Amino acid sequence: MLQTIYLDYNATTPVDRRVLEAMLPYFADIFGNAASVQHVFGQRALAAVEEARGLAASIIGAQPREVVFTSGATESNNLAIKGVAHYYGRQGGRGRHVVTCCMEHSCVLESCGALEQEGFEVTYLRPREGSGGVFTVDQVAEVLRDDTLLVSVMWSNNELGTINDIPGIGRLCKAKGVLFHTDATQYVGKLPVDVAQARVDLLSWSGHKMYGPKGVGALYVRAQDPRVRLQPILDGGGHERAFRSGTLNVPGIVGFGKACEIAQQEMALESVRLGVLRDRLEQGLLNRIEGTSVNGDVTRRLPHVTNMCFGQVDTERLMLSVPEVAVSAASACTAAGARSSHVLKCLGLADLKIHTCLRMSVGRATTAEQVDYVVDRFAQTAIPAPV
Ligand SMILES: *Cc1c(COP(=O)(O)O)cnc(C)c1O
Repeated sequence: MLQTIYLDYNATTPVDRRVLEAMLPYFADIFGNAASVQHVFGQRALAAVEEARGLAASIIGAQPREVVFTSGATESNNLAIKGVAHYYGRQGGRGRHVVTCCMEHSCVLESCGALEQEGFEVTYLRPREGSGGVFTVDQVAEVLRDDTLLVSVMWSNNELGTINDIPGIGRLCKAKGVLFHTDATQYVGKLPVDVAQARVDLLSWSGHKMYGPKGVGALYVRAQDPRVRLQPILDGGGHERAFRSGTLNVPGIVGFGKACEIAQQEMALESVRLGVLRDRLEQGLLNRIEGTSVNGDVTRRLPHVTNMCFGQVDTERLMLSVPEVAVSAASACTAAGARSSHVLKCLGLADLKIHTCLRMSVGRATTAEQVDYVVDRFAQTAIPAPV
């Protein structure tokens, strides 16, 4: 039997068995509509949703009422960015300037692009020379203006794993009276988060990046100091404090809550274990394959991910030669042609070099044996690309 090895936990994670067990009763047995609170079916569903809301709030240090359930981080990011712009834009007086970074996830970049179409002005920060892709407070401070409405900077980059100074940027925004959103999809559940300490106003995260189900996520919306307002994207029955209409995905939300609970309990030990495995993988590849190097700052980085260039090796061919190992190429052939990682481009890598890069991310089911197997197979298979 061909063994398959999954080293792409940043793309998605399997649902933890404990999460699955928690979800199952809510499909066919406890199936009520959480809004139908006049009968016991609805009351049971609502109780489960509110328990999950408490668990989701707990992992980021928020109040339960500050958690809005969504269909995932794409929706959370859209709701945060467009919601702020449209609400305060309509009110007037608060300005129409938004600050973000060139390395954000496409859903943040595209949301900002949509705002530009509407006449908002967006500043896209680029990483400084030698920064390894980490954005700093003074970089944000330099571009803030009197009419800046919102700053959106991701907590951790999905391709590099680099960690930005979110508490620092949060304090700056607070002092300047600018709203601050962070896409924390890759960070929540990996390292501790405290929205009060980090002075974050809005924070997005997703179930399927932390062993919860796909299609469910959340947006933290600060309720006090300041109370953040949003123009909803969906018009409807006014669910989720009118931020997000639509019948709640009860099984998904229960799973999301359970995933948050497990991550909060286990992240301290898990991050250490995964850091050891990641280092073993990275060091093994650096030692065994000539010309390999690591992309991005290695000191401010999530413990479970590495992004590496393989010298002259064409990594798409490498992946085809080792089909039993699942990793992520920094360039992907699409129907529209070859597409290179915008993150590595922002980091300053040339297209040719980007074709030699891979992102590898370890996770809950990864073992040292798997890591050693991958190092061996890659070392045996690495064929230099034709020059
Ligand atoms: C995966 C990811 C998203 C999108 O999340 P979905 O829940 O799949 O919509 C957004 N931002 C980052 C940083 C991600 O890694």
